[in-house]
Amino acid sequence: MNIVFLGAPGAGKGTQAQRLMNDKGIPQISTGDMFRRAIREQTPTGMKAKEYMDRGDLVPDEVVIAMVKERLAEADCQNGYILDGFPRTVKQAEELDKIAQIDVALNIAVPDEVIISRLGGRRVCAKCGGTYHISMLKDNACPACGGELYQRDDDKPETVKNRLNVYAEKTAPLIDYYAGKGVLVTADCTGTVDENYKAVLTALKMD
Ligand code: ADP
Ligand code: ZN
Repeated sequence: MNIVFLGAPGAGKGTQAQRLMNDKGIPQISTGDMFRRAIREQTPTGMKAKEYMDRGDLVPDEVVIAMVKERLAEADCQNGYILDGFPRTVKQAEELDKIAQIDVALNIAVPDEVIISRLGGRRVCAKCGGTYHISMLKDNACPACGGELYQRDDDKPETVKNRLNVYAEKTAPLIDYYAGKGVLVTADCTGTVDENYKAVLTALKMD
């Protein structure tokens, strides 16, 4: 099954996609994670992406699309995948339609005020990429692998505001795009991670 996860920054796309991957064995393709890795490894893609990400702007479509096309051609994607953070513009969705058949687009719905509190408290593991909220942490070590946790530069307050504006302008139209294709489902993800995961499985009819 080819699944797209839609939702504002901080809606919990990454957390729920990781969970679905571990539970059902479907690979999670997170373009944000791919860019952060590319920046750490100073690849050409990473160099192109960095300035946009630091501002909370979108990386140009052609850079993202080239990266995703390469990734979806790999062996582990041939039996389905979860796209997390892609597509983020109508142009990206149109390009994706040329190379893939999307079975379901899941909209992870969360009110704005919840989003803002989540992003401010978000910490990411430098080693495994796991994401956590400070309210669930005892110290600065990853509960899964012991790696060091950090706050993403783009989770700082000014950048968060810009990312939410960019989402409303560029990405929210994808909800109508996929509704028009008859593949949109919605999960209310205002609750705990466990509650939200149940809502995700129900929406995907995978429970
Ligand atoms: P979040 O969903 O919390 O905003 P991501 O990790 O998905 O975080 O993305 C972080 C940043 O990476 C985005 O703000 C953007 O700059 C860049 N990025 C990720 N995916 C895309 C995409 N599909 N198109 C353009 N830019 C992207
Ligand atoms: Zn970790």
